[in-house]
Amino acid sequence: MSPIIEVRGLSVVFDGFRALDGVDLTVERGELRFLIGPNGAGKTTLIDVVTGLTRPASGEVLLAGRSLTGLREHQIVRLGVGRTFQTSVVFEELTVLENLDLAAAFRRPLLSLARRRRGVSETVAEALETTGLAGLADRPAGVLSHGQRQWLEIGMLLAQRPEVLLLDEPVAGMSRAERERTGELLTSVARDRTVIVVEHDMEFLRRYASQVTVLHEGRVLAEGSVEEVRGDPRVQEVYIGR
Ligand code: ADP
Repeated sequence: MSPIIEVRGLSVVFDGFRALDGVDLTVERGELRFLIGPNGAGKTTLIDVVTGLTRPASGEVLLAGRSLTGLREHQIVRLGVGRTFQTSVVFEELTVLENLDLAAAFRRPLLSLARRRRGVSETVAEALETTGLAGLADRPAGVLSHGQRQWLEIGMLLAQRPEVLLLDEPVAGMSRAERERTGELLTSVARDRTVIVVEHDMEFLRRYASQVTVLHEGRVLAEGSVEEVRGDPRVQEVYIGR
């Protein structure tokens, strides 16, 4: 079976500057893969290319063996790749349920409309359950705590039924308890999907990462388990040791 995500020889150039320089990356189904690296390493750019926001200068991204080259963002979402952004996409005046409904409608507008007439769609009910937000379904999103809002954003991704979820710093600003709950949530999501996370929190990585990829200056510097990566002198030099 082909890997769920395969990145081959990916380069991105901004005004002559190589933000990514020949990146190869293979992610198998069911992984909870972490991307780390110093600021400016190219992590967000990599996510931007996989999700169709940025065009590469060369190289390609394959989803389950199918090339995503040339596809637009909404087409890539429909093929099953979803992401969160560093800035929130939650509508504060709408309820948790309405936010999830909207997210589900983004992927399949007509199907979702038909379902809404029959009440809460199965997908949305599942997203509420998985994120533990069922008890808050009718509350406006604006009253949620920081952690709950992050879980809602993950729920909104789940409502789009992605095979692959890309998350940018999901535990930033969270309390210890919220981090733990997020780690468990991501672990459970990765049981039947694939999760790729940009995250710097080493304690979080140690507990939840299955594999880690270290980017540095637009290249893959190292890859392996958290222990392997932490023990790599090159990684210590550019990242952990600083
Ligand atoms: P990271 O997410 O690892 O911090 P980024 O992918 O955001 O790194 O950025 C990689 C490099 O590309 C940085 O040097 C950044 O300044 C540059 N860069 C990112 N986006 C743009 C852009 N739209 N235009 C010009 N340079 C960019």
